[in-house]
Amino acid sequence: SPGDHDVLEPPGGHAPPGGTGEPVLVVEGLGKRFGDHEVLRSVDLRVNRGQVLALIGPSGSGKTTALRCLNGLERPDTGTVRVGSDVAVDFATGASRTQVAALRDRSAMVFQHYNLFPHKTVLENVLEGPVVVQRRPRAEVTAEALELLARVGLAEKRDAYPFELSGGQQQRVGIVRALALRPTLLLFDEPTSALDPELVGDVLGLIKELADEGWTMVIVTHELQFAREVAHEVVFIDEGAVVERGHPDQVLRAPHEERTRQFVQRLL
Ligand code: ADP
Repeated sequence: SPGDHDVLEPPGGHAPPGGTGEPVLVVEGLGKRFGDHEVLRSVDLRVNRGQVLALIGPSGSGKTTALRCLNGLERPDTGTVRVGSDVAVDFATGASRTQVAALRDRSAMVFQHYNLFPHKTVLENVLEGPVVVQRRPRAEVTAEALELLARVGLAEKRDAYPFELSGGQQQRVGIVRALALRPTLLLFDEPTSALDPELVGDVLGLIKELADEGWTMVIVTHELQFAREVAHEVVFIDEGAVVERGHPDQVLRAPHEERTRQFVQRLL
């Protein structure tokens, strides 16, 4: 029953280390233009349950746009996105509003700038999606939200407003808000790039814990050391196309492609 759901556990329970062979996200031929600018050129991605995919690449290469296409915040011109076994959207043939809503319901985004509602308290921010959008019972969601806030050390901040929190605390609320949606897939868009350097470690540590627990994730990040520690696969994108993909040690330490080599040399 819904009441038995363990909020700290990914949907379907903990995946074994390294994930299962079962695909949770399958993206094929993702294409997107803004006017004359071709921002994504037939991008393919696949993430199995319990796995972490790190999307890396230069600024402006299309990483954020790709991530936003995965949950319908951005509408690709072409390509199919499948999440789990029951949602498959073919954008080339015109995705319906219902299909895009289903896609959005399966994933939750953690934003670079947290995107908390400034006039709502921490608890209200966490409740908004599950109660207002997903229409789940407020009492049940509140109990889960408080459990999640306690887990990230913010139980006593439940009635605080975002401006009263540090950037690191705001981002932990952003992560709790995503978890409260019970998503199949967690999407992180440069989750630490707006943080003061001394706050980055806490947030990366929390994301690493979630990865170790078997949450399925796609992370856009410039933290290559972190990508190496947490990701099962690294995908390097340049000018809207996948240049190289593979095991983090290979892509980050011994890249096959010259463009990858130049990029990782600058950042590692
Ligand atoms: P990255 O995340 O790799 O830095 P983005 O996906 O944010 O790259 O952006 C890729 C390209 O698409 C950039 O040139 C950016 O200016 C452009 N772009 C992104 N969003 C829009 C938009 N809404 N309208 C026009 N151009 C956009």
